[in-house]
Amino acid sequence: MRNILCNIINPLSDQQAEFLLNQIISIEADKIIAITPRKDFVGNELEDYSHCLALPGFIDLHVHLSQYRMRGKFEPALLPWLEKHVFPEEARSADMSYATELARMFYKALYQAGTTFAVIYTAPFESACEAAFRVAAEMGVKALIGMTMMDMNTPVALLQDSQQSLGTSIGLFERWHGQKPDLDYIFTPRFAPTCSFELMQRTGDYATRHKAWIQTHLSENTSEIAWVKELFGFESYTEVYAEAGLLTERSLFGHAIHLNDRELGLLKAADAKIAHCPDSNFFLKSGEFSLSRIEEIGLEYGLGSDVGAGTTLSMLYHAKQMNYRQGLFPVSPAKALYHITLGSAKLLGMENQIGSLQPGKAADLLLFSTPPGFDPGPDSLSQLIFFASEFPVEEVIVNGKSRL
Ligand SMILES: [Zn+2]
Repeated sequence: MRNILCNIINPLSDQQAEFLLNQIISIEADKIIAITPRKDFVGNELEDYSHCLALPGFIDLHVHLSQYRMRGKFEPALLPWLEKHVFPEEARSADMSYATELARMFYKALYQAGTTFAVIYTAPFESACEAAFRVAAEMGVKALIGMTMMDMNTPVALLQDSQQSLGTSIGLFERWHGQKPDLDYIFTPRFAPTCSFELMQRTGDYATRHKAWIQTHLSENTSEIAWVKELFGFESYTEVYAEAGLLTERSLFGHAIHLNDRELGLLKAADAKIAHCPDSNFFLKSGEFSLSRIEEIGLEYGLGSDVGAGTTLSMLYHAKQMNYRQGLFPVSPAKALYHITLGSAKLLGMENQIGSLQPGKAADLLLFSTPPGFDPGPDSLSQLIFFASEFPVEEVIVNGKSRL
């Protein structure tokens, strides 16, 4: 049992966040059991974090574990960047001991960044994905994890046989689905250019029948889009996935930048979800996410770091980038916070467990101290988002356990 005296910043909606001064968050086992104003608190076992801001743990909707170590390697666009930097680095994860060490390093960094739930791609090897699951289970990491699938247009070191790609994915799903409450499998065709139509179709069919999650990339870069149209002969990128049966309510598409109205309509009709990765989109000069159109049509989205094209795991940094990467559309701190916490929890169907600080929800919380001269107050959220690096993390708690 812990009683933490702190100041709470809580997301309420994409328009509103609340600031609550001098509150006591009571934690028992893995849950928040009460939030009480200091003046109403009875009891004396208090931990004094009154100089700190408490926020719910952050959610990263799109991140590549196996690319953690090649962040920041410049290339002018997506396709040459994949060839030159990503594929050689992912190939190293064929070695299980390398993949295991990397997973340890990655999860530690996730915790340090305050991410308490992540949706993860691993390298296209069973061993890499198995290692990612085992280490996650050992370190109490909450995540959806999937082995990247690729059976064409792929360097030999990463190329999978179509049968084996799906068979291995199903094996991993069967092994890990239902094993732990906060850890599950997500089917992960990399993107249309490296997946045969048949592989996508069979994956979509299996995942739909088993109510499993699917993730892939969609419409990131204009050369990629032209390539997809040429490869599959459909009118648009989204149509390839629609025809292959990959558009479901449990499908999470990374990027989704250059979509026409018809494509947006297809995504909306399927109730598909979007992971918006602003830092990555500008690192690779992919383009600007049409935030106002996505909101107008009512597509559910949340933020992803997209490490390794994203440069950091810090979701506060990506929240800031969400604002900066809109030319004309101001993104409020409350909206940015919502899309790294409660909004993403909702998108995942987990809003009763995670995403905000509330009695009954998991005790996933972050304690940041304010910089000298900045007292906790209603402007703290805005300041935290715009100069996060000056707010040291004092503690990261996941399921009631201190992880940092
Ligand atoms: Zn990605």
